[in-house]
Amino acid sequence: MLAPVEFSPEKILLKEIRPENLTNLIKAADVADSIFWEQMFPNYEGLLKPQDRANQELREFIQFNYGPYDILNDDAAVLPVGPKQPGVGFYPASLSRDEFVKYVKNHPERAAIFQSPYTVIRGVNAHLKAVPYHIAYRGKVNQLSDMLNRARAVESHPAFREFLGQRAGDILTDDYFTSESTWVRLNDNPLDLVIGPYEVYEDQLMGLKSSYEARVLWRDFAESEKIQHFQREIPSLCKTLGPYLSKMLVMSDSRLELSVADILYAGGFARKGIPAIALTLPNDEKVIEEVGSRQIILKNILEAKFNNVAWPVINRVLLKPPSDPEQSRAHFFSHTLFHEISHSIGPHIIKINGETTTINRSLRQYYSVLEEAKADALGACILLSASDNQNRQVFLDLFVAGFLRSIRYGQSHAHGGANIIQFNYLLKEGAFDIDSDSGKMCVNHDVAHRAILKLATEIIRIQERGDFDLGKRFFESFCIQNQLIERLLRDLEDIPVDIRIKYRS
Ligand SMILES: [Zn+2]
Repeated sequence: MLAPVEFSPEKILLKEIRPENLTNLIKAADVADSIFWEQMFPNYEGLLKPQDRANQELREFIQFNYGPYDILNDDAAVLPVGPKQPGVGFYPASLSRDEFVKYVKNHPERAAIFQSPYTVIRGVNAHLKAVPYHIAYRGKVNQLSDMLNRARAVESHPAFREFLGQRAGDILTDDYFTSESTWVRLNDNPLDLVIGPYEVYEDQLMGLKSSYEARVLWRDFAESEKIQHFQREIPSLCKTLGPYLSKMLVMSDSRLELSVADILYAGGFARKGIPAIALTLPNDEKVIEEVGSRQIILKNILEAKFNNVAWPVINRVLLKPPSDPEQSRAHFFSHTLFHEISHSIGPHIIKINGETTTINRSLRQYYSVLEEAKADALGACILLSASDNQNRQVFLDLFVAGFLRSIRYGQSHAHGGANIIQFNYLLKEGAFDIDSDSGKMCVNHDVAHRAILKLATEIIRIQERGDFDLGKRFFESFCIQNQLIERLLRDLEDIPVDIRIKYRS
């Protein structure tokens, strides 16, 4: 069950910008959306029997999941299509993980293009080839570039206009350095856009290939100003986390721009399933190192999730729930912010046997879920360091109860899996008990605080070593649905799992 919410850009349109500025961005987002369809499940229409086509509920389900697999039920198929391929449209269906690894090992000269986030793999067995996105999706990529150029022609903000033009060019070559660098420097454009291939979550075969997405954003200047001071304070907060973490958590000197925005429209990966509350982009390590990154909290999504889902869940599962929804909403906001910041601190580029690589490449299919668990736990540690005792207790209650909210996304979802890991880890550490009369959760605050720090440390150690086997073992030990989780989830059946956004264009 999802709580329906509707986001409409109308009121902004009328007051502050000309309609064509927004319309072109929305059309571009729709093209990015159609490329994502091709990546996920090309030609699902062909699968629908004539009687299915009139079935609105089924069509809505397929739109939500971008295919016939139920992402809220571990990708169970709802049409007779066979199980979901972990490599979806990025790899040939017959290609196994081991075959890919072996191929790259035997063809080191092709490793870069095969592992590129911007290529799809085609062919069979020994005859594999890597095809760049701009060739694989040529017609749509050209159309997208055209829409971005049209948006540029009517845009009046100079830096944003420059970004639109560069992005229009970069997607034609899959070399995104110039436009991503310009995007990172944007800091006062009211209308904002994320568009192109970014996140690798949908590649469950290798965790390498990026999904097309689009988000049209409206900057909230007042809220953005309130959080910008954290950027300066993070290094000293990290120093309070003990010698190992303060050594590992080096904030790069590069710029980190924190801001708050409302989302007006979304397409592709950004529209699939559970909407994210925040984003940290770009993912390209070179841009991050040389120019920096931006972190954006999506305020209208955050508020809708808190009101419709998080607050009811917390009140249901805790024996003594917090009394003040405003204070809790503020903690929810802060943890989202520190979660995002945590993605950008800690090890990224590592050395294994003298060779430079990334954690993503080393931990492969376990990378996303472990990185999300790290960001949650580390974000919590930073928030706890910045809080007084009373706030610390309220936050720990919200944090621990909040696992149940996200576990409902399912084990195959990066955030769902990350929350199962945290729940089981904290349970093992004695961070919470279950009250024998009511069956509700009781948080042991001091134990929980120590356990969260221990968890963050343990994951960062795995990342620092880039040890695939260690990551796999850790994942297999903690990412387990158990009877206690199932019982707690049964009590939440009447509370929406998340929100379903309807975007009015
Ligand atoms: Zn995250």
